[in-house]
Amino acid sequence: MSFDPVVRLADVSRVHGDGPQAVQALREVSLDVAAGELIAVMGPSGSGKSTLLNLAGGLDLPTSGAVTVEGTPLRSLSAKELTRLRRRHVGYVFQDLNLIPSLTALENVTLPRELDGVAFKKARHEALEVLAEVGLGDVADRFPEEISGGQRQRVAIARALVGERRLLLADEPTGALDTPTGDEILQLLRTRCDAGAAVLLVTHEPRYAAWADRVVFLRDGEIADSTATPLESAR
Ligand code: ADP
Ligand code: MG
Repeated sequence: MSFDPVVRLADVSRVHGDGPQAVQALREVSLDVAAGELIAVMGPSGSGKSTLLNLAGGLDLPTSGAVTVEGTPLRSLSAKELTRLRRRHVGYVFQDLNLIPSLTALENVTLPRELDGVAFKKARHEALEVLAEVGLGDVADRFPEEISGGQRQRVAIARALVGERRLLLADEPTGALDTPTGDEILQLLRTRCDAGAAVLLVTHEPRYAAWADRVVFLRDGEIADSTATPLESAR
């Protein structure tokens, strides 16, 4: 048993572009997310929320500072090793879902495991299990355009959850969903978190942030405030 954080950001800064066009998206941000911890990231548009998630998941590297995932400093990895670590440990729910339209729900969820070298049968079995977990067992063979927006969102969540990844990064996964569907998605993330995952959730909705253990507020690329949520009893 280890008490190391699943992800650690130490004095992380990220400047996008250079010269007069340079934008400092993050400024010396330090943040640990432990196993079993759900952190909500809030802040105005452009405050650096997506940049923070991309850095935490190794989709982007910092200009300075260090990101460590499951004890491995990301900067020490080759591009290939970084890809492997991402596939193995990081589940990412993108703002625009990024489902592949020509693949069924099941195939969308199976794909990342197959890319990770898991045999087709095992990958398919895992995908069916996680689809059932998110309540989509009976639409597994449908294509994204044949299911509702809420169901598509859950397929994206299933794809992030498959394979017992311990770091889950969700960038406004409740998007334009109605409240009951958004609540279901938070319930799913919370359950995984309680089973030992570390979750970073970007949200604009205090209602969803109330599911978090801690809320981090970003402003102009800096952590302006960080607070334990007092609303635990509301869940
Ligand atoms: P948020 O998710 O909070 O809206 P972002 O992390 O997307 O914020 O962006 C933070 C800042 O960095 C913004 O000013 C944005 O315009 C800028 N930015 C983000 N990504 C890039 C990029 N790839 N190239 C240049 N600027 C970027
Ligand atoms: Mg964003």
